[in-house]
Amino acid sequence: MFQQMESNGTQRLHFFSDPETGLKAIIAIHSTVRGPAIGGCRFISYQQEDNAVIDALRLARGMSYKAALAGLPHGGGKAVIIKPENHFNRPALFQAFGRFVNTLNGDYITAMDSGTQVSDMDQINKTTNWVTCTNSIGDPSPMTALGVFEGIKAAVRFKLGRHSLNGIHISLQGLGHVGYEVARLLHQTGAKLTVADINQERALLCEKNFSAQVVEPDDIYAIDADLFCPCGLGAIINDQTIDQFKVSMIAGSANNQLAEEHHGEILAQKGILYAPDFLINAGGLIFVALQYSAQPQAAIRSKVMQISDALKNLFQESSMTGIAVNRIANKKAEEIISAAESMNSAA
Ligand code: NAD
Repeated sequence: MFQQMESNGTQRLHFFSDPETGLKAIIAIHSTVRGPAIGGCRFISYQQEDNAVIDALRLARGMSYKAALAGLPHGGGKAVIIKPENHFNRPALFQAFGRFVNTLNGDYITAMDSGTQVSDMDQINKTTNWVTCTNSIGDPSPMTALGVFEGIKAAVRFKLGRHSLNGIHISLQGLGHVGYEVARLLHQTGAKLTVADINQERALLCEKNFSAQVVEPDDIYAIDADLFCPCGLGAIINDQTIDQFKVSMIAGSANNQLAEEHHGEILAQKGILYAPDFLINAGGLIFVALQYSAQPQAAIRSKVMQISDALKNLFQESSMTGIAVNRIANKKAEEIISAAESMNSAA
């Protein structure tokens, strides 16, 4: 475990067990050099506890990089709660989680992520103030979706030289809080949609509301579309899927899309333009961080809209240097964090 922390660059890993509520939670704090760590709380089932730890470590690092590239005064952290298999009291479980967050004295601020909702954040807020996405702040997903939509437009402009999404065919995986809103925005602009979700009801809703074609979850990777938009879970660009892609672009909200960093290079070799996840999906983090510091809506929206310019610059740099976009984005984020570290130690 320490080796994983070291190779990931994670500062701290905290575990919390509360037999009374069934809470088993992990908080990974990747970095606090640029400010308190901020990042969502994931609440899903894990077949093995080790996978939950790995998820927390990988996601926390992504949050540090995301905050650094978005210029936010935060480090990255992430919480994972292993969803209990048996009956549990949801409000009590999230209140217990709040007590855990509170022990960290503000080094970690929690927020929504896959499997959690605004009402859970309200329960957490009963036992700690280090929480955002509460009822008074709201769900970050629409801002994440807006950033992804702008990122898709930037990718299409760069790769196809097209300024409109009308007629562009997009395969979309995962139709939850973010994916459904991305589908709505894409449908409005005339994009053609092929969608998949393990929850068939979500897929059928997109078929009904956005004239989307529904396919089986395993078939989404091989769809002959222009762009693949992953909005489900991570590691979906892996050894099994990478040869199936027929798209020329991948741009979506899911965190940790590349199972391994070298998959980014394989995408580049195949001529598939990839929008690094922690850059394109930063809209939600921008929303929660700026809401937390009471910034106006206009400032939040304007910062989210800047995601497309940041992606355009990255695509250009990658095309000029021949270095894969994920490597350039990682390096930029690491440089920003190192610079803050040097400034802190000099102060
Ligand atoms: P969500 O839980 O609301 O939705 C995820 C959807 O993906 C669900 O409908 C689920 O059924 C589906 N799904 C899961 N596995 C799938 C599979 N193998 N095939 C097809 N569908 C599958 O989550 P969300 O908030 O919409 O977030 C989606 C992704 O975006 C996650 O990776 C999350 O970490 C990331 N993200 C979300 C935000 C945000 O603001 N919500 C911000 C940044 C990144």
